[in-house]
Amino acid sequence: MKKFLNFSAYFLIVTSAGIAITGTHFSGTYSRWIEVPRSSGVNGVFVGLVILLAVKKYYKGKKEPIEYSKCPNCGESYFYSKLSKGICPTCNVATIDLNKYYEKHN
Ligand SMILES: [Zn+2]
Repeated sequence: MKKFLNFSAYFLIVTSAGIAITGTHFSGTYSRWIEVPRSSGVNGVFVGLVILLAVKKYYKGKKEPIEYSKCPNCGESYFYSKLSKGICPTCNVATIDLNKYYEKHN
């Protein structure tokens, strides 16, 4: 989904940049070059950039990998990458992202 959104945004930016520079746009509907106000191309570039930034911001918080985690049962801290699926090897329960653990327990 992220790649698709990024691709769409880049496509929009490239297309719009073309319009902004040349003032024309090849229309698939009319099968010919049509005149387009350059301002709409400039707007399109901005819209594309806004989409790119929004996608970046949206996925930033979601995809961040967990570095350290803590077991809510025994309180042991782990390197998350060393655990199998984030499970505490002692208690066999899911460990919690250390940052989130301290948000909750402070
Ligand atoms: Zn444990």
